[in-house]
Amino acid sequence: MSEAPRESLDFVRQIVTDDLGSGKNDGRVHTRFPPEPNGYLHIGHAKSICLNFGIAEQFGGKCNLRFDDTNPVKEEDEYVEAIKADVRWLGFDWQDRLYFASDYFQQMYDYAVQLIKAEKAFVCDLSLDEVRAHRGTLTSPGVDSPHRNRSIDDNLDLFDRMRRGEFADGSKTLRAKIDMAHANMNMRDPVMYRILHASHHRTGDRWCIYPMYDWAHGIEDSIEGITHSICTLEFEDHRPLYDWFLEQLDAFHPQQIEFARLELTHTIMSKRKLLELVDAKTVSGWNDPRLPTIGGMRRRGYTPESIRNFCDRIGVAKFKSTIDFQLLEHCVRDDLNKRSPRVMAVLNPLKVVIENYPEGQSEELDAINNPEDASAGTRKVPFSRVLYIERDDFREDAPRKFFRLSPGREVRLRYAYFVTCRDVIKDDAGEVTELRCTYDPATRGGDAPDGRKVKGTLHWVSAEHALPCEVRLYDHLIAPDEQTPESGNNPEPRASARANSGATQKAATAETNPADWKASLNPNSLTVQFGGFIEPSVAEAAPGTRYQFERIGYFCVDPDSSPGKLVFNRTVTLKDKWAKIAKKGK
Ligand code: ATP
Ligand code: MG
Repeated sequence: MSEAPRESLDFVRQIVTDDLGSGKNDGRVHTRFPPEPNGYLHIGHAKSICLNFGIAEQFGGKCNLRFDDTNPVKEEDEYVEAIKADVRWLGFDWQDRLYFASDYFQQMYDYAVQLIKAEKAFVCDLSLDEVRAHRGTLTSPGVDSPHRNRSIDDNLDLFDRMRRGEFADGSKTLRAKIDMAHANMNMRDPVMYRILHASHHRTGDRWCIYPMYDWAHGIEDSIEGITHSICTLEFEDHRPLYDWFLEQLDAFHPQQIEFARLELTHTIMSKRKLLELVDAKTVSGWNDPRLPTIGGMRRRGYTPESIRNFCDRIGVAKFKSTIDFQLLEHCVRDDLNKRSPRVMAVLNPLKVVIENYPEGQSEELDAINNPEDASAGTRKVPFSRVLYIERDDFREDAPRKFFRLSPGREVRLRYAYFVTCRDVIKDDAGEVTELRCTYDPATRGGDAPDGRKVKGTLHWVSAEHALPCEVRLYDHLIAPDEQTPESGNNPEPRASARANSGATQKAATAETNPADWKASLNPNSLTVQFGGFIEPSVAEAAPGTRYQFERIGYFCVDPDSSPGKLVFNRTVTLKDKWAKIAKKGK
């Protein structure tokens, strides 16, 4: 037997393999997923989760879940709990390695004191705005702070008093003393600590100075002994600074590896924008099925397997690219096809009376649960004299190629009988309200013993037995014809976004938030369809149960559903546009 072909390694796995080969880190592989608890996770985070946990799994290493909770203003426990649930749901396990950056605040403080003593950090009285103004530009050097040459003792004293709360927010910072003329702007005496009298979700009021992301992040990785610190490309220019800090501290030095973040067409992935949609109630919450959040996708019916498979397929690279949303839907469809039981539901019903079927009679027919999976077995579907079919499955003036029902034509009702349309009943407005049909009792189960063929097979439900249902149909969050050049992703790394936080938040927002991003939102991203009917086998289905509605699409039971009021979300349609795109590309 031949071995399965080995997949080629992406560049990150290649680095890990090389490191293992050279005996670096004593053969340890230790990664982490470091979310900031300031929002819910989205599909972009899933890429990072799959990469970090996936590498640990593949190379016999470990992966930590670490909350990067250094900004008290935007962080909440609600987010922490939601993120944990999402990572677990995706199928990953941090075991006993759940960490919080805030647990390292004392260590970070001690490290800062160490830098002050080495004359590598100083207390600066400039405001954050002034710091920025003195920073220079890409083509011109910055200006030294007037406080740059304070004595070690003064610095130690001031930093201690900063910590003890003697100074107002924004009145002082602790800055690294590197080089105001450095070609890399991040190296121009960056701010390490700011004063912020704000309660933290875990440390409460214990601290009133908070570390900046650039100071904190490398230290967190170092403390945890992370061997491969995998992050997105925006942090490439920050690596020299992380390296500089760890060299000064003579601390364990993880290797940072940058990869291109996931960008997807037709959606928004900026947490800030998602939060705006949630706050404005444009969507029902972080788990609205239209959002690309893990919670939204779960509620919509995506499986964790399909998301993991998607992340595998898009791979990991250094170059930026935008992935077509169709590929994600293709992965979802592919997985649901294998695992979803089929049921019959009629979303837009048209009444059909089988004239030669006795009134008051009904029978149960065998229906196959999943043609892709014989072990799924069969179920009984009730049939009776009055049925519903899909309104679209009937045309009074049918063109020749219309193989569904029209006057005089015979079609198969799936798992049931051949029926022929004999008469069309209309209301005063000329709208078709009912079809009168006959059935051929000899075709029970859906085949004619005389070998006669029909071109069309329709799904249906028995009016007497069917359950009413509400169906929520979703379309892209961003109008299908809109380009999404910045599918919401702030090109600025978080570090700078954070340096701009507080008083100067507005300026940063104006820059990166062209006010009209909301104009591209698809007004038809949700259509609620009432009046549908579904076969009774689903009566007890719990929220989250997934089905294929035959000929319509994949659906799952929404948490709003109850036995008396079934509510379904359309997960994805049946039509695989990706398969078409892929074919054309060949
Ligand atoms: P923020 O701008 O608020 O920092 P973020 O999306 O970067 O938002 P984090 O909580 O910092 O949020 O993200 C946690 C991890 O997920 C980081 O390591 C980050 O690099 C990674 N990540 C975030 N977005 C994507 C994305 N679109 N593709 C791949 N990885 C991502
Ligand atoms: Mg980030």
